[in-house]
Amino acid sequence: MKVHLRMTGCRLNQSEIDLMARQFEAQGHQITDEADQADWFVVNTCAVTQQATSSSRKLIRELHRANQGAEITVTGCYAQISPEEVQVIPGVTRIIDNIGKDTLVEQLTGKPAESFDYEPISRDGRISRTRAFVKVQDGCDNACTFCVTTIARGAGRSRPMQDILDEIRYLEAAGYQEAVLTGVHLGSYGHDLGQSDGLFQLAQAILRETAIPRLRLSSLEPWDLSEGFFSLWQDPRVCRHLHLPLQSGSDRTLKRMLRRTNQANFSALVSAAREAVPEICITTDVIVGFPGETESEFSESYAFIEAMDFAGLHVFPYSKRPGTAAARMRNHVRDEVKKDRSARLIALSKAGEGRFAQRFIGQTFPVLWEQIAGVTQEGFMNVGYTDHYIRVRCIHPRVLTNQILPALLLQYTDHQMQVLPMIEEG
Ligand code: SF4
Repeated sequence: MKVHLRMTGCRLNQSEIDLMARQFEAQGHQITDEADQADWFVVNTCAVTQQATSSSRKLIRELHRANQGAEITVTGCYAQISPEEVQVIPGVTRIIDNIGKDTLVEQLTGKPAESFDYEPISRDGRISRTRAFVKVQDGCDNACTFCVTTIARGAGRSRPMQDILDEIRYLEAAGYQEAVLTGVHLGSYGHDLGQSDGLFQLAQAILRETAIPRLRLSSLEPWDLSEGFFSLWQDPRVCRHLHLPLQSGSDRTLKRMLRRTNQANFSALVSAAREAVPEICITTDVIVGFPGETESEFSESYAFIEAMDFAGLHVFPYSKRPGTAAARMRNHVRDEVKKDRSARLIALSKAGEGRFAQRFIGQTFPVLWEQIAGVTQEGFMNVGYTDHYIRVRCIHPRVLTNQILPALLLQYTDHQMQVLPMIEEG
C-alpha cells in the first residue's frame, strides 16, 4: 500500500508520525509524499486550540478532495476529544484514539509492528532526515486549567529506558545527527516508574551509551528541573537550548492557570540556567487573554517577560477548550484585546530573538545543516541550526545537509543568520 502521513500540532505528533512511517516501511508499505498516489491517509490531529481543531478538519477535507479513493484514518487529540465531529468529515473511514495510536499500524495492516525497524533508512526522494523526534513519554499528571491535553492524552506514562536507548542507537546507525526527546510532559519522565529525576538519568544514559552527535530536550515545565540538572551541559553534545513554558508573567494569572511556578521561582531558574550554561538559548510559551487577565495583569506579565530577555516566545491567544476549568471561568477577554496583546508580545519576541542571535556575530559555532531551501546561480541555499537554535543559512556550491560543520556567524536579518561555513576543501 502507498501511505500518505500528515499531522498538525506538536513535536510529539511529529515523532509519532515518524515512527509510523518507519513501521509501515518495515512491513513493505511505501510512504508517499503525493496525496493523489496514496491508498491510505493517516492524519495525526491536534486540539490544543480552536485554531488547531480547525486546521485538523481543513487538512482532512483537503486530503479527501485530493484523492477520494483513499481511506482516511484519523487519530490524535482532536479525534480523541471530538470523535463525533471527525466522524462526519467526508472521507473519514476510521478513527483511532490516542491509546490505540500506538498500535495504529498493526490495526491498519493486520500485522504486528515493531516499535521501530532496524533497517537503514533509504528515503527515496523523501526529505533527508537529520533530526529525529523521539517520544519518551505520553500523558500528563498536571492540572493546568486551560489545558485540554490531559483530557486528550491521559495520565503520564513513560517508555522503558532500554527501548529509548535502542531507538536512539538505531537513529544513530541510520545517520541521524540529532535526537530531540519529546513528550507531553517531558520533565515527568520516569515519575510513574518511581524515578524522581528520571529525565536526568535518561539523558545521562543516552550520553553514556550512544554516540548520537546531538541531544536536544524539547519543552520542559519549569518546576521539573532537579538540582544538578544543568550538569548535563558539561557534555557538549547536549544542545544549549531550553524551552520553558511560562504561560504568563503575572503571579495572579499563573494562580488561576494552576501553574506550579511564579515570578520568583521562574526567574531563579533562568538565572541558574544562564550561570551554568552561559550561552544557553531560553525560549518560552505565553498565553494572552486568559480569563480574567486585566490590563494590569497583562502589563505585569509583559514587564516580567521583557525582564527575562527570552530568545523567542510562542504566543497563543487564549482559546476556550471544552471540558477545561478555564472555559467555565468568568471574565473572558474580548478577541480584539487578545489580538492587541498578542501583537505586543510578538514584537517583543522578535526583538529578543534578534538580540540573542546578534550577540554571537563574529564567532564560530557548529551547525547541523538540515535542508536546501533553494538553488541560486552561486550554489545551494543551505539551511541549518546552531546547537543554541539560531537558524542559519549560506549559499554554497555543495549540499551540506546532514553534516555538522563549523560556521562563522556574519549577519542577522529576518529571523536568519548569514554564515560562512568553515570547510577545508580537499
Ligand atoms: S503541564 Fe499543564 S499545560 Fe502541559 S500538558 Fe500538563 S496540564 Fe497541559
